[in-house]
Amino acid sequence: MVIGALAEADGPRSAAELSRAIGESVPLSSLYRSLAVLEEVGVLAPHYSSPGLTRYELAEWLSGHHHHLVCIGCGRVQDLEADDAIERRLQEIVADVARAASFAELNHALEIEGHCARCA
Ligand SMILES: [Zn+2]
Ligand SMILES: [Zn+2]
Repeated sequence: MVIGALAEADGPRSAAELSRAIGESVPLSSLYRSLAVLEEVGVLAPHYSSPGLTRYELAEWLSGHHHHLVCIGCGRVQDLEADDAIERRLQEIVADVARAASFAELNHALEIEGHCARCA
C-alpha cells in the first residue's frame, strides 16, 4: 500500500500524508515500521526538505531520475523531471562543479526552493 501510494504521488510524502492517502485502517506504528524497512532495503529514499520532517519517495531505480520543487510557503515538495537537453546541461554543470572541488560525482539532485502556484 505504501509503494502504491507513493507511485501515485507527485512528490515525496511524510508518514502523516501517507496515512491520509492509505486510510486509517493501517496503524501509524505499522506505517512507520514499513517505511523503515522499505528504506533499509533500498526501495524508498528519504527526503529532508523541512526541518524535523522526513518525507519518503520511491528510490530513483524505481521512479526515474528527477529533481524537486520545494515550496517554502506551504512545505509542499513536488517532483520535477527535466527534459533530456536540460538534463545534459545540468550534468555538465554538476561535473564542472564537482571537478573544481576534486569530488568524484556519481549522481546529483536539484532542489529548487520558492513558492508553488498556490502560495505565489
Ligand atoms: Zn506552497
Ligand atoms: Zn522525488
